[in-house]
Amino acid sequence: MSNIMPQLRIGNGYDIHRLVPQRQLILGGVKLSHPDGLGLDGHSDADVLTHSVMDALLGALALGDIGKYFPPDDPKWLGADSLLLLEEVVSLVGQHGWRVLNVDTVIVAERPKLKPHIDEMRRNLSERMGVELDSVGVKATTNERLGPEGREEGISTYAVVLLGAL
Ligand code: MG
Repeated sequence: MSNIMPQLRIGNGYDIHRLVPQRQLILGGVKLSHPDGLGLDGHSDADVLTHSVMDALLGALALGDIGKYFPPDDPKWLGADSLLLLEEVVSLVGQHGWRVLNVDTVIVAERPKLKPHIDEMRRNLSERMGVELDSVGVKATTNERLGPEGREEGISTYAVVLLGAL
């Protein structure tokens, strides 16, 4: 029997949104421009990167997923700024007695070129989560033209977070 409290929790998140015309392309709160004018479909602002981070945070504490807290059929979240939703999730994590230690993410997208925007995404996530910039990783990869991301039918993201007890 151990009386040592667990000090760490880990969570992972995944999300994918369709690329469609007449929509904005927002990743980690950064508005991007797709060469074919495509953006991400969704009920909120469809910030697929921020969504996977939120799911990772919730998953770390087995609190469910973002659909539970921000249902896509609720008009309240229509066009919602996902960074604000992220702030709410981080606050929930705090209420449960945990803080974010670090986050790592991957964006799978053929286009546009994301490298010039990575640091701004990291800054946005770091500020909204109250985490040091050097504890927020954002990486981008193409899918070598394979699968839905490769055919530019959508953009997917993966996130892993580590939480520490407050
Ligand atoms: Mg989503």
